[in-house]
Amino acid sequence: MPSDTAYLEALNPNQRLAVEHGAGHAAPGPLLVIAGAGSGKTNTLAHRVAHLIRHGADPRRILLLTFSRRAASEMSRRVERIAGSVLGLGSGAITDALTWAGTFHGVGARLLREHAQQIGLDPAFTIHDREDSADLMNLVRHELRFSETKTRFPAKGTCLAIYSRVVNAQADLDEVLKTVFPWCAMWTAELRTLFGAYVAAKQAQNVLDYDDLLLYWAGMMAEPAIAAQVSGLFDHILVDEYQDTNRLQASVLLALRPDGRGLTVVGDDAQSIYSFRAATVRNILDFPSSFSPAAQIVTLDRNYRSTQPILAAANAVIDQASERFTKNLWTERLSAQKPMLVTVKDEADQVGYIARSVLEARETGTPLKQQAVLFRSSSHSGPLEIELTRRNIPFVKFGGLKFLDAAHIKDMLAVLRWAENPRDRVAGFRVLQLMPGIGPGTAGRILDALGASADPAWALGEVPPPAKAGQHWPDLVAMVGRLASRELSWPLELGYVRQWYEPLLEAAYEDAPSRVADIVQLEQIAAGYPGRERFLTELTLDPPDATSDQAGVPLKDDDYLILSTIHSAKGQEWKAVHVLNVVDGCIPSDLGTGSAHELEEERRLLYVAMTRAKDELHLLVPQRFYVTQQARNGDRHLYAQRTRFIPRAMTALFEDILWPPVTPIRAGLMPGQPAVVDMAAKMRSMW
Ligand code: ATP
Ligand code: MG
Repeated sequence: MPSDTAYLEALNPNQRLAVEHGAGHAAPGPLLVIAGAGSGKTNTLAHRVAHLIRHGADPRRILLLTFSRRAASEMSRRVERIAGSVLGLGSGAITDALTWAGTFHGVGARLLREHAQQIGLDPAFTIHDREDSADLMNLVRHELRFSETKTRFPAKGTCLAIYSRVVNAQADLDEVLKTVFPWCAMWTAELRTLFGAYVAAKQAQNVLDYDDLLLYWAGMMAEPAIAAQVSGLFDHILVDEYQDTNRLQASVLLALRPDGRGLTVVGDDAQSIYSFRAATVRNILDFPSSFSPAAQIVTLDRNYRSTQPILAAANAVIDQASERFTKNLWTERLSAQKPMLVTVKDEADQVGYIARSVLEARETGTPLKQQAVLFRSSSHSGPLEIELTRRNIPFVKFGGLKFLDAAHIKDMLAVLRWAENPRDRVAGFRVLQLMPGIGPGTAGRILDALGASADPAWALGEVPPPAKAGQHWPDLVAMVGRLASRELSWPLELGYVRQWYEPLLEAAYEDAPSRVADIVQLEQIAAGYPGRERFLTELTLDPPDATSDQAGVPLKDDDYLILSTIHSAKGQEWKAVHVLNVVDGCIPSDLGTGSAHELEEERRLLYVAMTRAKDELHLLVPQRFYVTQQARNGDRHLYAQRTRFIPRAMTALFEDILWPPVTPIRAGLMPGQPAVVDMAAKMRSMW
C-alpha cells in the first residue's frame, strides 16, 4: 500500500524542493524554477499543484497559466492523477475544481466579462481573432484613405503587427518603429492616427482583439478596488513556460501579486522562441529581483526525456548560444542510437523517407501518436500532408491551418457573432456580403445605417431590401432577429443558421456537400459548450486543429501521426521526432537572420525541436528545397546547405544517412580490391 506521500518519492531532490516550497503556508514567497528542456519543470508544476491541494489549498482558488488550453487541460489531468487518489476524491473532482487553468488570454477574457460593468465595458463584447483584427485595421485604413493616398503605406498585416508589438512590449510607437520596423518609420504620424482610429472603432463596435484581453486586464488591475477583488480570487498563481511571456503579461502578474506571494513560475531561457510576439527572456531573468523578498530559485539539471546521444547533440547546438542562463543537462538514459542526420535529394525524398520511417516505427511497436514531424513554418508540411493522405496514414496538424479558417466555418461563426454583438462590424460585413448582389460598398452603407440605431438587429428590418438579394434578405432579417432575441435554444440555433446558409453555399461552391458536413461537425463541437458566448470566446482563443479528415474533433481512438510547427510543439514530447528542412534558409529562416538577436532565436528553435525527442531523432536535410518568399519575388527551388547550427565539427554526434541509399561505389570493384577512398562518405561529409 503506497504511503500518501509516495508521489513525492519519485521526484529528485531539487524537484521536491520546488514542489514542497512553502506548502502549508497561506502565502509562500515567490518561486522560480529555471531549467533546461525535459528536466521535469511541467511535471514539477503539476506535482506542486497537487501538493498544495493536499495541504489544504482550494483548487478553485488556484490560477494556473499555461501556453495553450490543451496544455492547461493536460496539467489538470496530471494533477488529478497525482492528488485524486491520495485525497480519495471522486474522479474528475479536481479537474472540475481547477476552473482557473488556462491561457493568459482565456483567463483575461473571463475576468473581463465578470468585471465588465466596473470598467465600463459592455459584457457582450465579441473577440476578434488575428484575421478579424487585420480586417478591421483594413477598414479603418480605407476610411482614413491611407491606402489610396499614400503610396506604399504598410499593409494591414504589418500595421497590425506594429500595433500589437507596441501593446505587448509596452513600448513607444517611435521605439518599436525604430528598432523592429525601421522601413515603416516614415509613417509614424499616420500610424499613430491609424491606431487611434482602430482603437476607437473597436470601442464603438464593442469588440476586443487578442491584445486587448491582456491590455484591459492590466488596465483593470491599475484600479486598486478592482485589483483587490481580482487578486483576492487566488491563493496561488503558477505559470508554465514563463520564458515566452511578454512585458504586458509580466505586468499583469506583478499587479496580481506585487510581493510575489504564492507565485510560482517555471521556464527555460534557452527555449525562448516567441520574441516575434514581443515575448522577452528578461521576464524570467529579472524575476528573482522583481520581488522583495526575492524569489527562491530552483534549478534542475537532470533530463528525463531524451537518450544520452540526443541530449548530447541538443546540448552541442545550444552550447554555441551567445547568452544563456540554464546549464547543460545530463541523463541516465543511455543508448547506442545516435540522432540521425538524413541527407535527401529533395522534398519528395524527404517525404518518402518520413512515411517509410514512421510506418517502420509503428511496426516495431511505436504507435503513430508517439511520433511527430516538426517544421519551421506551417506551409512546409504541404507535400507531407499530401503523401500521408495518399498512403492513408492518419495525422493531426497542430498550429497550422485551423478548422475554423475555412471560409464556410468563418461565415457561420460571423452570423453567431453578429447576433451576439450587432455592433461587430467585421462580422456584419462578412454576413451581409454572403447575400447575392451585396458587395463591400452596399454592406458598408447598410452597416452605417444600422450603426446609428440603438438596436441594430431590430433596425435591420427597417433597411430597404437590396434589390438583388431577393428572398435571401427577409430570411436574413428573420434569422438575425431570432438569434438576437435568443428564441432558439443552444446549440440548436446552429442548425437553424445552417438551414439559412445551405442554399447560399450551394449556389457558391461546387463542393457544398462536404462544406455542409463540416458545419454539421461544428454543431457537434458546439454541443460541448454551455452557450453561444462561451463557444465563441473559446473557439476564437484556441481553435481546434486540422486533422487528416479535416474534422475539428480529434479522431478519438484512432492512431494518428502528429504534425506540428516547432512553435506549437513547445512543452511536448514524442518517442520519435522528425524535423523537416534542417537547412539554412529554413532553420535559420531567411527571414530570421537579419540580426544577431534573431539568429539566436532560430538556434533556440532548433534546440526546442531536438529536445522534443525521447528515443529517436531524425533531422532531414534536403539538398534542394522549395521556398515561397515574397521577398524573393516568387517561389523557387534553392540548393540548400545543412543548417549552420550543426557545423561539421558537430557531425560526429550524429549518424550520417544518405537516403535513398545509393549503390555503394565498392560494389563495382573487383573482389579483394579495397577502395582507396570511400568517395560516397567523403561527399556526404561535406554537408
Ligand atoms: P520542457 O522544457 O520541454 O517543457 P519540462 O522541463 O517541462 O520540459 P517535463 O515535460 O515536465 O519537462 O518532463 C519531461 C519528462 O520527464 C516527462 O516524461 C516526465 O514525466 C519525466 N520526468 C520528469 N521528472 C521525472 C522524475 N523525477 N522521474 C521520472 N520521470 C520524470
Ligand atoms: Mg514543460
